[in-house]
This record gives sequence, C-alpha cells and structure tokens, in this order.
Amino acid sequence: MRKNLSSMLLITLVLTLFVTPLILSGCGDEPAVEDEKTDEKEQKESKEQEEKETDEKEQDKEHEKEKEEEIEEIDYEKVQPNELGEIMILMYHDVGDELGDWKTTREDFRDDMERLYEKDYRLVDLMDVVNGEIDIPAGTTPVVLTFDDGHTGQFDVIEENGEKIVDPDSAAGIILELSEEYDDFTVAGNFYINSYPEPFGDRDNLGEKLEVLTDHGFSVGNHGYAHARLDHLDTSEEVQEELGKMQKKVKEAFDGYKFDSLALAYGQWPSEELKEYVFSGEYDGATYEHKAVLNVAYFPEVSPFHEDFDPLDLERVKANDGVDQEMDRWLDTYEESPERRYISDGRTDTIAIPEDNEDKLNEDIIEEYEVITY
Ligand SMILES: [Zn+2]
Repeated sequence: MRKNLSSMLLITLVLTLFVTPLILSGCGDEPAVEDEKTDEKEQKESKEQEEKETDEKEQDKEHEKEKEEEIEEIDYEKVQPNELGEIMILMYHDVGDELGDWKTTREDFRDDMERLYEKDYRLVDLMDVVNGEIDIPAGTTPVVLTFDDGHTGQFDVIEENGEKIVDPDSAAGIILELSEEYDDFTVAGNFYINSYPEPFGDRDNLGEKLEVLTDHGFSVGNHGYAHARLDHLDTSEEVQEELGKMQKKVKEAFDGYKFDSLALAYGQWPSEELKEYVFSGEYDGATYEHKAVLNVAYFPEVSPFHEDFDPLDLERVKANDGVDQEMDRWLDTYEESPERRYISDGRTDTIAIPEDNEDKLNEDIIEEYEVITY
C-alpha cells in the first residue's frame, strides 16, 4: 500500500513536471508561434500591398504624365483643330450589285470608305455627335454613315461553318473588313428600319439580326412602320401609330431595344401642331423618344458645339449613287476650304477652335468642356 502510494506520488510528480508543460505548450505556445507567423505574413502582405499600391500610383502618375505629354504634343498651328467645323451625315440607301438612283454598288461603297479614310475622316455613331462625345484621333474629321430602309445589301447575317456572321458582301461586312485592314479605321453606322419590306429581308429572325448588328458596334434607328409620309397623316394618333408601332415591334423582337433617333421617311414632317409626336409619343403601350431626327439630304451639319446645332432637325448629305456624286462634291469643297471642316484635337473633354470662331460656341454647353482657342 505504501509502495503504491509512493508510485502514485511519483507518477503525479512526473506528470506535473513533464506532461503539464507539454500539454500547456500544446495548447498555448504553438498558436502563439502561429500568431507570430500570421503577423509576419500579414506584415509581408501589407508591405507587398503597399508596394503594389505605390507601383500603381506611380504608374497612374506616369500615365497622366504621358497623357499630358501627348496633349502637349499637339501642335495647334499644325493640326489646326476646329471643333466648331462641319460634319457630314451621309445617307445611303441600297448597297448591292446595281448602280442607280439611290443605289450604290458594293465596290463603290468600299471605294467611298477608303477615300474617306485616306482623307482622314473617321466613322462615328450619330449619337456620339449628338452627345458631343466625338472620340477620334487629333487631326481627323468625324463622319456619320446612315442607311435607310433595311436592305440586305446594307447588312445581313449568313451562316459559315455553322457560325452566324455578318455577310462580308454587305456594307456592314465591308466596314468590318476595312477595320481589320487599316489602323484606327473605326466601326460605326446607323441603320434606319421600317416594316415594309421587312428589315434586312427577315420577318422571323429580326431580334437575332439586330443583336448581331449592334454587337459589332452599329446602331438601329426608327424609319416608321409603313414608311409613311408624315405630311399625309392628319391626327396625332396616326403619327404615333406610324412611329410607335415600329418601336413596339423592335422592342418586342430585340430585348426591349429603344431607338435613339428617327430618319424621316421621304424627309417629310407632319403639320406644325403634330410635330411634337415626331419627337416622342406612345402607341399600344410602347413609348418612343427620339433624341435626334434626320431629314433627307442635302447639306453637312454644324458641330454639336455650334450655337445653331439642333439634334431634332439634322441635315444629311446624299451618298454617291448612280445619279449624284454629292459626297464627292463636299469632299472637294473641304479640300478647297479646309477651314469649314470639323477637325478633332483628339480629346473629348475639350473644344479646340481657332480664335475668330469663338462667338459661334453654344454658351449653354461650354461649361462641360474646356475651351481651347489658338
Ligand atoms: Zn426610306
């Protein structure tokens, strides 16, 4: 019994002396080591983060510096930016095999695009002009392409190796091809569709076609449901049906798509008291709002920064066809009188203009921009 008691005491002592610290260390010390490791890791991480942030800040600074240098590099006397100059909104109709009245061949269309590019014109979307967001390189001139009536020669979708692609023979296909061929050849174009005939020859796949078209950077606009002359309509209901029915059709076929702009069929306005329904209205639960309205030809537009700019009454220039070489006449005019042409300074936050044009600036919008005169 005594021996047993001594053994127990001994065991207790051994346990107390050796095991307890082990247990304690097992429960307490190790996490402390881990904490230290975590601290070290966190310190390292936060140091890395700091370094990364500093790097990013430095990079940002460098970018800003580069940008400033880029901006400073513009020699105003040499580039002669004139962001109050004229802009052509070109009006195409059929593009295809035939040359004729309102008809352009695809070869001529390609030539037009190459000629514009070589003369430093760059394609922009109509709404970029309307919104004063013309983002093209310094020294170049914006030009808007509009296509009326929804011909398949303007745009179509074909299947190639099981894949749906833009018909390379269509105007849209030619623009996409040229954008791969030339540096900074921009992709843009506004397609105005009506319901008779069906847009791009297709009643059943309208939504799918419009998706392909807009995915490539093009826009779609209203050209009325029945391509009616609005001056032949007598009531607000008739005007709203003509314009609203087309909006409803496209909205339902293509993901709620809303038109930004309207190209007036035959360039015809309704009577004065019905004019407001050209800009906005409602038909059968579908509302429409046109922020830009296009006439039919025959002049270039003023700059969106010009005091006379009115997005709800825009002029167009008839594209070259089998009868007229209207576009070429204007290109010649700008060769002879380059001071008339809009020339970008390469920035969207400024309006750069020669000194003596200053008084033509639209006073209501200039607060949004930095005006640079030289
Ligand atoms: Zn038309």
